[in-house]
Amino acid sequence: MTRLSLLVASALGLLAASCHSDPAPASIPPQDQGSATTPVAAPEPGPAEDPDPAPPAETPAQMAERLAHEILILDGHVDVPWRLHKAIERDGSLTIDVAGPTTDGDFDYPRAKKGGLDAPFMSIYVSPDFEKRGAKRVADELIDLVEGIVAKAPDKFALAKSVADVEANFADGKISLPMGMENGAPIERRLANVAYFHERGIRYITLAHSKDNHISDSSYDTRHTHHGLSRFGRKVVAEMNRVGIMIDVSHISDEAFADVMEVSKVPVIASHSSCRHFTPGWERNMSDEMIQRLAEAGGVIQINFGSGFLDGDIRKARDAFEETDHGEAPRATVEHVADHIEHVIELVGVEHVGLGSDFDGLGDSLPEGLRDVSAYPNLLRVLIERGHTEQELRQICSGNVLRVWQAVEDYAAEAAAPK
Ligand SMILES: [Zn+2]
Repeated sequence: MTRLSLLVASALGLLAASCHSDPAPASIPPQDQGSATTPVAAPEPGPAEDPDPAPPAETPAQMAERLAHEILILDGHVDVPWRLHKAIERDGSLTIDVAGPTTDGDFDYPRAKKGGLDAPFMSIYVSPDFEKRGAKRVADELIDLVEGIVAKAPDKFALAKSVADVEANFADGKISLPMGMENGAPIERRLANVAYFHERGIRYITLAHSKDNHISDSSYDTRHTHHGLSRFGRKVVAEMNRVGIMIDVSHISDEAFADVMEVSKVPVIASHSSCRHFTPGWERNMSDEMIQRLAEAGGVIQINFGSGFLDGDIRKARDAFEETDHGEAPRATVEHVADHIEHVIELVGVEHVGLGSDFDGLGDSLPEGLRDVSAYPNLLRVLIERGHTEQELRQICSGNVLRVWQAVEDYAAEAAAPK
């Protein structure tokens, strides 16, 4: 849909809403809305020359609701495994079941279904505290937890180790739980562990978390241990290319990012980073130059929803709030997330942006209008109101990241093929 026809459609929608005194148009099932093939109600008796009234047009909100459930929505980073890991009882039992409604956290099956979420990457997050020992064990435990979610509710969830898996699960109406490992610490200085974690289903690795590790420097760490990737880290990147694991540049330092772009033979992702343009000087987000470099190599930045990621002033105000601890912490809005998506589009085009909410990993800092996984339609509504087409939404919601993932799979398949 063009920007103009959209404006017309939304104006008609508003008109329809304001002219009718009968039940609100919102109560009409979305599939009955705005389709050219939908039979129009029998015309009222009247003069034959009465202009044929147009079928009621979809409002942006209705269109967003419909598309959120038609389009495959992939989210690059959801911290469900760590949320569950923290909740394990002494006897090993789990107190949280995300297959049903939950009162804590941002993700569960009913809310994901409501929001149209189809493929949230489960973050296998390993704290830098385990860098010296135990990291691999923790990663294995978290992967076990994700497998457990699927084993307990195979009618609702499915593992996904390839693009084809994600698409097949989507066709089956199941939520895919692909896995990405946040922090390379579990590699534990053994290159063979890259293939080991690929075997276990890990499909991206965020090379470092909040501290420099044996692979890469972190954006949060001031030591600059390796001034980028370590020598071993360069081998890890090449090995990830070889076995087919996406490289995630979120969290790593600018120097490490530059090294990755030099070493990787395939496009890379930033699984949950936003634009530094809106948070000047904050290295956890990506600068315009980095986004351009990422895009030139075919990569994708998946926008983080955290209020502190979205606006520098809100970030400072929230930091000050944490020190004083009274009043209400300011938060960003769903419109800020749309601003970041549009900034990437203006900079490098719609082929290089995706979603990486960080749900369940942000505490109480989610933006107004985007507080949990049920709220993706609200983000789509804002993008539709700003004139973005269905095709663009498909790219943003999953198409771009699936393209990178496919390129990574293809490269690995070629590397494995007999010469
Ligand atoms: Zn993170």
